[in-house]
Amino acid sequence: MSGEGQRPPVREVRCPRCGKPAAWAGNPWRPFCSERCKTIDLGAWANEEYRVPSEDAPEDGEPEP
Ligand SMILES: [Zn+2]
Repeated sequence: MSGEGQRPPVREVRCPRCGKPAAWAGNPWRPFCSERCKTIDLGAWANEEYRVPSEDAPEDGEPEP
């Protein structure tokens, strides 16, 4: 038996925001690749939460990108 193949477990995830490979170990922004992506994603979530459907608010149907 030859014990060859002792590679350290490389953990990589794909940034759910931009799709770029992001390191998992030692990555404070995981699963995102950077603080920017994390902030953007969290911001999007916050916006979703803040968007409370109210009947009194006239929606103009803005096209979202
Ligand atoms: Zn990213």
